[in-house]
Amino acid sequence: MATQRTLSIIKPDAVEKGLQGAIIARLQEEGFSILGLRQLRLTRQQAEGFYAVHKERPFFQELCAFMTRSPIVVIALERDDAVQHYRKVIGATDPAKAEAGTIRKLYGASVSENAVHGSDSEENGRIECSYFFAGFDLV
Ligand code: ADP
Ligand code: MG
Repeated sequence: MATQRTLSIIKPDAVEKGLQGAIIARLQEEGFSILGLRQLRLTRQQAEGFYAVHKERPFFQELCAFMTRSPIVVIALERDDAVQHYRKVIGATDPAKAEAGTIRKLYGASVSENAVHGSDSEENGRIECSYFFAGFDLV
């Protein structure tokens, strides 16, 4: 399996509940290396840019309002098969449908407030890491 990068975001609902440490510990247990990690609060423009692919979806405004409500933690991760393995660790978009033990099942509240973001392809993993980190930030 090839080494890949993927972007994790600990979303506002999870940061509000103080779950940063638990989620980061889980990611390290799963064998991910942390290349970059930062807490920040998205502006509306930054949230809309990040989720531009969803701009025609009915939940776009709700999603951008949610993602700007509180700080988030962005984490650039590296591992063999990182994209697919990370998606397995977080579980389905809707926490109610996520497998037992996944991060979204454990910590997500709803299909909207689902604790974490994950990249959906190797290409998007690279693009999304670049959205938040310059090349020299990733070590
Ligand atoms: P994923 O985060 O699992 O890749 P999507 O890319 O489809 O899921 O959606 C991006 C984010 O938009 C989700 O993580 C969730 O926060 C929000 N979202 C998705 N579907 C809905 C929905 N039906 N209603 C409200 N918010 C949604
Ligand atoms: Mg997605």
